[in-house]
Amino acid sequence: MPFGVYVHIPYCVKKCPYCDFNSYGVGKRIPEREYTEAVLRELDFYREAVEKLHITSIFFGGGTPSLFSPVTIGKIIDEILRITSPLDSIEVSLEVNPKTADLEKLSGFREIGVNRISVGVQSFLERKLKFLGRINTPDDSSRILQDIIKAGFENFNLDLMFGVPFETPDEWRVDLERAMEFYTTHVSSYCLTIEDDTAFGTLYSEGKLPLPDEETLAEMLTLTDEFLELAGYKQYEISNYARRGSECRHNLLYWRGEDYLGLGAGAHSHLSSDKKSLWGIRWANLKNPDLYMKSVLEGKKPVAFTEYLKKEEALHDRVLMGLRLRDGISLINLKEKFGTKLHSDWLSILLREGYLEVSDSSLHLTKKGILVSNELITRVCDSLVFE
Ligand code: SF4
Repeated sequence: MPFGVYVHIPYCVKKCPYCDFNSYGVGKRIPEREYTEAVLRELDFYREAVEKLHITSIFFGGGTPSLFSPVTIGKIIDEILRITSPLDSIEVSLEVNPKTADLEKLSGFREIGVNRISVGVQSFLERKLKFLGRINTPDDSSRILQDIIKAGFENFNLDLMFGVPFETPDEWRVDLERAMEFYTTHVSSYCLTIEDDTAFGTLYSEGKLPLPDEETLAEMLTLTDEFLELAGYKQYEISNYARRGSECRHNLLYWRGEDYLGLGAGAHSHLSSDKKSLWGIRWANLKNPDLYMKSVLEGKKPVAFTEYLKKEEALHDRVLMGLRLRDGISLINLKEKFGTKLHSDWLSILLREGYLEVSDSSLHLTKKGILVSNELITRVCDSLVFE
């Protein structure tokens, strides 16, 4: 069974107004040494639980992990590999903000074992970047992508965002075209969503954020799909496209309901079997980095909450995440694991109306279903019937 470790680095130079991740704009005041010490100690708490697990991926996410030095990231990788049972080929990803790394730093990351970079480009257009409050300029994004290639990374992802005020499908097409100039192996394409408790959430509630209408957004989604498929990418998750064999192994763990240990402030973990629950356990760390560090350095696990899953919750999670994948959910595996068929009041309606389909014994969204995926997945999950 695959297993991955996620390491959350919660610091950013500046908080973006749309971001609801557990991230903090700290300028240059980054407690790199103390935070790393806490992550390493936290890892030690789980030594027994993970030592026999065959690790397949490590993912440094954030926040902005590229604010940390290659030496620091290397220390964490070495310790994870030392106490788990690594497979020969392990994917090690690191998220990079274009403004926070150069060729030397990227080469350093490569030397210490990072083999996949995920770059938060968001856009190549100045208007969009300024609106999104990003610290990177279009030139930063082009430069970092060239440096990634020069540093020898063959596997890298580009994050792009669409759906900012007044954006047209033609403007979005320019971003997609620019992205193709760098022969990236993977593209994550996200629609701007407005979250409460963000600066954009406040603007939106005051009626000051004129977002594109549903029709324009659907046009952009269809454009993304057609454009990227024509360019040789396959959509393997609602927002993720990859060239053959370059799907993100770590993120697949989440969507397939497999095991992962999350280290760092606010990180989530899931283990599918546990002494106290046949159906698995999940827990989340304290979100505040200072409280997280304090707890770990006092010798206490920095856990904010733990849930021992019941069968219904495990099945609900499997459907919620699995429907995001183009391959969908294997109905045979589901029956084997849960001993039950999938029942939902909405299933037959959505199948009949062409939003869902079953092929090769897997249930998945159709292209039409992907356009309204959030609403549709919620409907299926909320109406699951348990035997
Ligand atoms: S750089 Fe990324 S993690 Fe940091 S605030 Fe912006 S969107 Fe959030």
